[in-house]
Amino acid sequence: MATVEIRDVRKAFGPLEVLHGVSVDMADGEFVVLVGPSGCGKSTLLRMLAGLENITSGEIAIGGKVVNTVPPKDRDIAMVFQNYALYPHMTVFDNMAFSLTLAKAPKAVMEQEVGRAAKILGLEQLLQRYPRQLSGGQRQRVAMGRAIVRNPQVFLFDEPLSNLDAKLRVQMRAEIKELHQRLKVTTVYVTHDQIEAMTMADKIVVMNGGNIEQIGQPLDLYDRPANLFVAGFIGSPA
Ligand code: ADP
Ligand code: MG
Repeated sequence: MATVEIRDVRKAFGPLEVLHGVSVDMADGEFVVLVGPSGCGKSTLLRMLAGLENITSGEIAIGGKVVNTVPPKDRDIAMVFQNYALYPHMTVFDNMAFSLTLAKAPKAVMEQEVGRAAKILGLEQLLQRYPRQLSGGQRQRVAMGRAIVRNPQVFLFDEPLSNLDAKLRVQMRAEIKELHQRLKVTTVYVTHDQIEAMTMADKIVVMNGGNIEQIGQPLDLYDRPANLFVAGFIGSPA
């Protein structure tokens, strides 16, 4: 667990600036949702937290330590992507153990950590299966399992449910929230779905065109939207 501080962060791709100086403070253990229309810069911000994109200017600190130049593998962060590509030729166990394999963890540690994650996610009976033998929801759980085995200080989710059907999406929302309540790991969750944001977040960051329009608890945004964009996006009467 850790605090996350984003301070006046800008991102440019060549001459094109796509984030115009954004700042967010996240408390230890908080579930923060970044929401906004497609192209507003959510994934870019998340990728900078993960160290997958350079920061053009500004600062990101995790657990009080500035990480601007820390490479992804040395950040205590695990990311679950929208296209949670599992390795098709590996079993569920091996998919979940993969990062531990890279870290040259002893076999006993791998078994313990994968076992712990599998128990949390209800995957104990599926460890010897291959991804093609799993349902969409089970695959999503394996993707989360890969993140959990690393015991990260921060979880990053980039639209993890957008490939699932509506019913499963609702179920997985509840599972991710349960997971968060159990592990209390600081979580940054990206979605373009305002209902997902309203139902899951401790705190919502509303983004638009590379800027932050408003930060607040779900009910604050609903009751007191800062402007028409937020009102329109959250769907509150303004
Ligand atoms: P979101 O996740 O909110 O849909 P992104 O962070 O993916 O938005 O993209 C924000 C903006 O940055 C978009 O205009 C996108 O086209 C642009 N962008 C993202 N990645 C790159 C890149 N590698 N090179 C150039 N432009 C990019
Ligand atoms: Mg995106």
